[in-house]
Amino acid sequence: MHIPFFSFAAVHADIQEQLTGALDKVLRSGVFVLGDELSHFEKAFSDFCRVNYAAGVGSGFDALFLSLKALGLSNNDEIIVPAHTFVASWHAAQQVGLKLVPVDANLATFNLNAGLLESLVTSKTKAIMPVHMYGQTCEMDLVLDFCKKYNLYCIEDFAQAHGAKFNGMVAGSMGQVNATSFYPVKNLGALGDGGMVTSNDEQLINKIRSLRNYGSTEKYLFDEVGINSRLDEIQAAILNVKLLSLEKDNEQRREIAANYIAGLKGIGDIILPIEASGCHHVYHLFVIRTAYRDRLKEYLQTQGIETMIHYPVPPHLQRAYADLGYKKGDYPIAEKIADECLSLPCYPGLPLESQEYVVEKTREFFEKG
Ligand SMILES: *Cc1c(COP(=O)(O)O)cnc(C)c1O
Repeated sequence: MHIPFFSFAAVHADIQEQLTGALDKVLRSGVFVLGDELSHFEKAFSDFCRVNYAAGVGSGFDALFLSLKALGLSNNDEIIVPAHTFVASWHAAQQVGLKLVPVDANLATFNLNAGLLESLVTSKTKAIMPVHMYGQTCEMDLVLDFCKKYNLYCIEDFAQAHGAKFNGMVAGSMGQVNATSFYPVKNLGALGDGGMVTSNDEQLINKIRSLRNYGSTEKYLFDEVGINSRLDEIQAAILNVKLLSLEKDNEQRREIAANYIAGLKGIGDIILPIEASGCHHVYHLFVIRTAYRDRLKEYLQTQGIETMIHYPVPPHLQRAYADLGYKKGDYPIAEKIADECLSLPCYPGLPLESQEYVVEKTREFFEKG
């Protein structure tokens, strides 16, 4: 048996015709940038996130970058970022010119440890970027209380959490401005790059709409020095189709996770993901931890099961951040996650037999010792 880590064939199986139809429609329309498909998708996605506004951009990175720009954050400002995240969260803040102040992770949830936030505040702290790792939101009650207390901006990175909820609030609706990605393998994925900024603040969204379009709101008039980062019509049309099945897809991810959790409970030293209090997890990734991670990964590979590591090296230990002078041991929980985490195949359309095979082979590994 061969089980790929992710399969577009499986994810798109039920909507092939709709996807082709969407591509066809854009091709015939002759409008490829800033057209009706994008307006429609911005409206539909903002409804999905229960916010008033959304602005489509070229990628998740651009969504983060432009969000921070739109808030007017500047060079001496500090932003708290998770030590355990995909490097894009850091890159965006870094390239806006902010000083990054990492907060270590909570080992049980993989998200930022809200208990550490108070200790990181200085007079320069202006913002925090909670990243909802693997499909589960951070403890947003604590994060939002913290923001209120110190008058900080909150920018959610919900690239891994389309449709996740915290106490009934949808991911992407909780910060002043929030950023997500439609990179193909995300829960809601395009057929290329794409991203979105969501907000209830009309002024901020107008600012994003200007910044994404060279700083222009009126043709050939430029109010500021913006960039080119627009979610194109082909991607928007595809996303309009795929948004319709996002809830159903997320439910399937939750079922797969429940099957894995039931099947893997008590095997070896495996630590299973948890759904934290108040959280509705959408399992962008199904991530376990084990001290035998590398050997387990290798064994599963020999049995035809592809797994991945999200992520093998935390941002603070990447060469890109060598200048900041971090060393091993600075963020021990993020480092422990990097050493022990393993993502199992988890996507809509993953057959039940495949899920059972993954469980069986994992059990076999620990039984063989
Ligand atoms: C995917 C991802 C991004 C970046 O999205 P791109 O569209 O690839 O630029 C940012 N943050 C997190 C947490 C992600 O998983």
